[in-house]
Formats: sequence, structure tokens, C-alpha cells
Amino acid sequence: MTTHTKDTVDVVVVGGGIGGLSNALALTRKGLRVRVFERAAEFGEVGAGLQIAPNCTRILDHWGLLEEVVSLGVLPENIVMKDAVDGSELTRLDLKDVEARYGAPYMVIHRSDLHGVLLRACERAGVDLVTDVAVTGYEQQDGQATAIHAGGRETAPVVIAADGIRSVARPLLVDDEPVSSSYVAYRGAVPAAQVEALGVSMRDVVVYVGPKCHFVQYPLRGGEMFNQVAVFESPKALAGEEDWGTPDELDAAFVDTCTEVRAGLPLMWRDRWWRMFDREPIPTWVTGRVALSGDSAHAPLQYLAQGAVMAMEDAYVLSEHVGSQLAAGATADSLDWDAALAAYDAVRPEHCRRVLTTARAWGELWHHVGDERLWRNAVMRARDVHDYGFVDWLYGPTALTPDQEPPMFQPL
Ligand SMILES: Cc1cc2nc3c(=O)[nH]c(=O)nc-3n(C[C@H](O)[C@H](O)[C@H](O)COP(=O)(O)OP(=O)(O)OC[C@H]3O[C@@H](n4cnc5c(N)ncnc54)[C@H](O)[C@@H]3O)c2cc1C
Repeated sequence: MTTHTKDTVDVVVVGGGIGGLSNALALTRKGLRVRVFERAAEFGEVGAGLQIAPNCTRILDHWGLLEEVVSLGVLPENIVMKDAVDGSELTRLDLKDVEARYGAPYMVIHRSDLHGVLLRACERAGVDLVTDVAVTGYEQQDGQATAIHAGGRETAPVVIAADGIRSVARPLLVDDEPVSSSYVAYRGAVPAAQVEALGVSMRDVVVYVGPKCHFVQYPLRGGEMFNQVAVFESPKALAGEEDWGTPDELDAAFVDTCTEVRAGLPLMWRDRWWRMFDREPIPTWVTGRVALSGDSAHAPLQYLAQGAVMAMEDAYVLSEHVGSQLAAGATADSLDWDAALAAYDAVRPEHCRRVLTTARAWGELWHHVGDERLWRNAVMRARDVHDYGFVDWLYGPTALTPDQEPPMFQPL
């Protein structure tokens, strides 16, 4: 895997997650030489399923990867929202309608499968993929950026920091810390045979929203696997205890939920859990020739299922700005990186700010208790299931600037 050469590159990408690999692929497709530094010994992803909305599947299509990604995932028929206490349906999104409306499918996939597709595409494209390199700092001089690591320094016209929520590069732009939501996620992806007796839907994404908790279920890998996510507010986190999110809290959080949810809980992995942090939105992600991308720029709470999606959008948008200069006659050496980075910074932070703040509000709505829960249920039940007003801004082309839309997708 490690193919580090001494050759100079046009772009260094720090971080080989979904965001970093997307940047590397998108820029290499434009003809640039890209090197990725990943601190882990292997490229890979930890976790289970990812929902990928049309605002990203249309990008995967543009990169020529959609067919492979779909072959490894599932195209669900509906997103069904239910009350976690009584199990009743609140509202739904028909995903065939969604595909017709937005010109690209809504899908679910194991995150290691998506990461694998991007990794293979990077290898085919000739990205220099380097593992075991943890970047510890940055320097800038004369229109070049340098990523510093234990083994040395790497200088390029641009460094893209796709190094996740605890980014080393983010302090170059802002003095902040990840924000704890006091919520924790348990995941579990199991062979479908293990849920056969539970009567779960193998066709839908089902989200049970409950008092200070929710539970998500969907099939993976063409229906061979079943993915579940259990999320709840941790009393120990609220009390300021260090040891929060433990399995006893998981069990306690779902005691009053419906039979369907409680039946799924024993299948959750209980040896690991994900404390849920996000980041405050920031208005600029670029300083000189260092640009944040993905979770380093905009780690969200996951309630809109847009974290990885935004990371891939970032990569797409920056690469299209580079591409338009190349199409107008620039070469890799004469690129106006300041203009490309400014164009990227002009559109992405504002869109992602809205995703981050809406995700927080969406989570509050899901987790209502008492009368507020009843109000939420009434509002959701009253929604016309063909009303797409609350996702047009997200799934439609407005998330990117119109001239960056892949040509096969017309504006609504
Ligand atoms: C429970 C849960 C469910 C989610 N569901 C969805 C969903 O359905 N849909 C969706 O779109 N998103 C979802 N997300 C969000 C999504 O997982 C993330 O937003 C996305 O993976 C971020 O990708 P990234 O590449 O920016 O960062 P990361 O995945 O964090 O990757 C960063 C990479 O950089 C490397 N790295 C870090 N520091 C350094 C360094 N100093 N030097 C070198 N390498 C470094 C890391 O090892 C890692 O490989 C979910 C998140 C959670 C927690």
C-alpha cells in the first residue's frame, strides 16, 4: 500500500478517510499529482452502515463509481420514521420519488465498502498513498504549505487537511474544541439471518425516534447484513462523569421503548461505542494554502446522515474549481490556487453551517419527551408525504453552486 516516492506533488492530503480519499481521487482525476498521508498502519474504516443521499450519489456517479457502490450496498424503498415508544408510523419518504426528484438514488452501504471503492479508485488513478505518517504541524512560506511529520516534511502548493474531528490543522483557523452532545451511539451490523425472526424491514431505513433516544435499522450488502444504530443521552455525561456511555446506560435508555426496538438491542456491539461530538460551524476553512475538508471543517451530529456526504461534496467542489481553471488552459504549475481555494471557501462553509445547525435541531426534535413528543408526533403525522420542502435544500443541487453540478443533473 505505501508507495511513497521522493517526487514532488501538487497536493498533499492529510487523512485517508472517506474525505481524504475523495479529495485525492477528485484532484487526481483532474490531472494533479496527489499524495495522501494516513497516520494508521492501514487504510480502512471502523463502524458499520452509512446512508448516502442523492446530493452525494450524483457525485459518485460523476466520478464513475456509482455502479460499483450500488452493487455493494442497498437501495432502500423508504425512510420510515416511527415513534420509539408505541412503534406507530409518523411519516415516510418514498425513495423512488426521491430518486426521480433529485436525479440520483438514496442508498445505504457499509462504510468499509464505500471506503474500499474510493481506495481502489485512488490506486487506479495513481494517488501516492502513504500510511504510518501522522502529521503534527504545518508551516507556510512563499505560496507553499508544508506538512510536518516525525519522518520529515512535505511541501506542496496546497495541503488539504482531511484529518477528522480532532484535526491538527483546525487550530490554524480557530481556537475551539469538539462539542459534546452527551449522546452516545452504539452500532451493530450482523448477518441478516440473525434478524429473520424479528420481523424487521429488509426494504426500508427505519428510524424510531424516542425520549432522549433513537434507534435506526437498515439492510446492508445487498440484504446479506442488517445494520442497527442505538443512540441515547448519557446521564453520566450530563453529570460530568468520565466513564460515560457504558452498556448499562444503553440498556436503561431503551427500557420504555416498543417491542421492535427492544428486540433489536441485544444485537448491538457492546464492546465499543461512539460518544457524539460535533464542531461549531466556522465561516472560513482556508488559511493561506492549507484547507480544511470533511470532519476537520464541519464534523456534524449524524442526525441528517450528511457527514461523509459533506466530505465528498467538499472534495467535488474544490476539484471542480481546479478543473475549470485547467479547462481554461491552466496547467498544474500555473493553477491559481488562491482563486480556487477562495471559490471553495465562498460556498462550502455556509452550506455546511446550515447542515450542522439543522442536524442539532433535528436531533432535539427526535428526542422530545412528554407533551413535546406528542406535539412532534402530530406535526410529523400531518406532513404530506409528498412534501419535500425540508430536504430540497439538502438533496437538491443548491448545495453546490449551479455551474458545478455534474452535467447530467439539471437544476430542479
Ligand atoms: C454513529 C454515526 C453515524 C453516521 N452516519 C452517517 C451517515 O449515515 N451518512 C453520512 O454521510 N455520515 C455519517 N456519519 C458521519 C461520517 O462518518 C463522518 O462525517 C465521515 O466519516 C468523516 O470523514 P472524514 O474523512 O472527514 O474524517 P474521518 O473519517 O475521521 O477520517 C480522518 C482520517 O484522518 C486520519 N488522521 C487523523 N489525524 C491525522 C494526522 N494527524 N495525520 C495523518 N492522518 C490523520 C485518521 O486516521 C482517519 O483515517 C456518521 C457518524 C457517526 C458517528
